[in-house]
Amino acid sequence: MREKGNASEIRDIKLFLFDLDGTLYLGEQLYPFTKELLKEIRRQGKHYLFMTNNSSRGVDAYVAKMKRLGIESTEEDFITSVMATSAYVNKNYPGLKFYVAGTESFKKELRESGVNLTDEYSDDVQGVIQGFDTELTFKKLDDVSKLLTLKDIPFIAANPDYVCPTEYGFVPDCGSVCGMLKNATGKEPYYIGKPRPEMVYFAVDRIHSKDISVSIDNTMVVGDRMYTDIASGINAKAKTCLVLSGETTEEQAYSSDYKIDYILRDCGRILEVIK
Ligand SMILES: [Mg+2]
Repeated sequence: MREKGNASEIRDIKLFLFDLDGTLYLGEQLYPFTKELLKEIRRQGKHYLFMTNNSSRGVDAYVAKMKRLGIESTEEDFITSVMATSAYVNKNYPGLKFYVAGTESFKKELRESGVNLTDEYSDDVQGVIQGFDTELTFKKLDDVSKLLTLKDIPFIAANPDYVCPTEYGFVPDCGSVCGMLKNATGKEPYYIGKPRPEMVYFAVDRIHSKDISVSIDNTMVVGDRMYTDIASGINAKAKTCLVLSGETTEEQAYSSDYKIDYILRDCGRILEVIK
């Protein structure tokens, strides 16, 4: 398999921002190199964080999943689109009452971070937040369509992904539901999560506060999807590494217009070069 970029330069990276599915595991299957790679990064005094766009689950569910797969982690090891969404809403629309269409855990995390929210349609709603809603009902689509049609209010979506991988293929993700809402109302959301750079900035700030040698210049986003993972790294001006262990084929990777720094077989190659 061809490789793009001089992989030995990856030794200079101090902060690795890993996507999860398709990058460190596939569904419930941990890739064989993942455990050793994470251990090696920390052994060298370097850092990693897991960066996920999935807004259907709380971070506690990710810690539990990693544990099931044999990786010890804490909530501090994660940057999620839910965290980025609440940070964005609290900064730009403090106190506004939002109708939130999402899972119970999505609403719980937003509420705990101070977002004023409801899941009931009412005339005093001042904004809409859409998440990856694995508990979606037609009632919610109806409520959101009505709000977006009758009012000119902020419309925010946690993540733009069209599909989410499953054991058998894919299911529609937040971006696809927003496509339905756009068809119905003509309104498009402001998307948080990858490919926007905020999650990368958020991650670099968190680690920089503990290790001042970490900056955007020695941070690398590692992921299997170009339009979210790689684009977020490019938008943040961090280094980017596309791995071909997930949904991007070699042909798609080399014919794309994204200015990717490294294209590697999988994260096992990162382990080989930094060891
Ligand atoms: Mg992925």
